[in-house]
Amino acid sequence: MGRRVELQISSFPFLFLLPFVSPTLYGARAREEFHVAAGARDLLQHDAQKPEVHCSRERSRAAWKIIEEYLMPFVEKEQYNISTKCRLHPDNDMFREQEQHKIHVDTNEWRCDFCKKSFRAEKFLDQHFDNRHYNLLNDGQGRCLADLCGALHCDLVMDSKKTKSKCNPAAAARNRHLCESLADSCFPVSQGRIASRLHELFLRQFCDAHACNGGQKPLSRGGKKHTNIFYFAICVLTMLLVPLFYLFVYLYRREMKKGVQDLKRISKTGRKSKPS
Ligand SMILES: [Zn+2]
Repeated sequence: MGRRVELQISSFPFLFLLPFVSPTLYGARAREEFHVAAGARDLLQHDAQKPEVHCSRERSRAAWKIIEEYLMPFVEKEQYNISTKCRLHPDNDMFREQEQHKIHVDTNEWRCDFCKKSFRAEKFLDQHFDNRHYNLLNDGQGRCLADLCGALHCDLVMDSKKTKSKCNPAAAARNRHLCESLADSCFPVSQGRIASRLHELFLRQFCDAHACNGGQKPLSRGGKKHTNIFYFAICVLTMLLVPLFYLFVYLYRREMKKGVQDLKRISKTGRKSKPS
């Protein structure tokens, strides 16, 4: 009881300060509310400025992966320059600049190279790009790589577990037409031997499989050889384990030999010490 009175008395002098302090507190809170409101308004304006993008980033990424793995090694080998008129040229992928500014630090860490912000999954970084760096989208006519997915067989790299749907002849014909038009615009036969060779390769690699007879396999050449890495790992492991196995056998036999010698010595000394 006495302690409570003491507390009240001790806080009494601060009561005089209340009329001066409270407007300051009120002002701070009001300012904070203003900033929050302003921030929300900024975000709304931000969203209003944000252009609507009708192009799938995920499918564009799959298309780029296919181009990079199954086409570019041959183009580079031939030292051929793809023209910007070709829709497979990197400039014609609206997400290219953003994708090149992704840093995969660790399994659960993705970083934005523009503002160095970190995220725990790639999808959050994608959302960040959509919300904060949309001004870097190269959004123009014919710049959606995802539109070429039908021709490039994106489904093969996107979801391997997907059950194979029945072949639709009309869709196959449409994809084949798109595929052949890509071959014509990217590797015009009129440009010489190298372009003709790549034109031919493009048809074999991507276009021939757009048929319902199931004869040709798409993406038959190139690509990362995952099985080779697996075999390489097994070879390295075997090379490490074989010497270890022999070392173990050697040590075991040495110990055994030592044990036998000790036993002999004990039995000899035992026999000697026995009175006859
Ligand atoms: Zn950023």
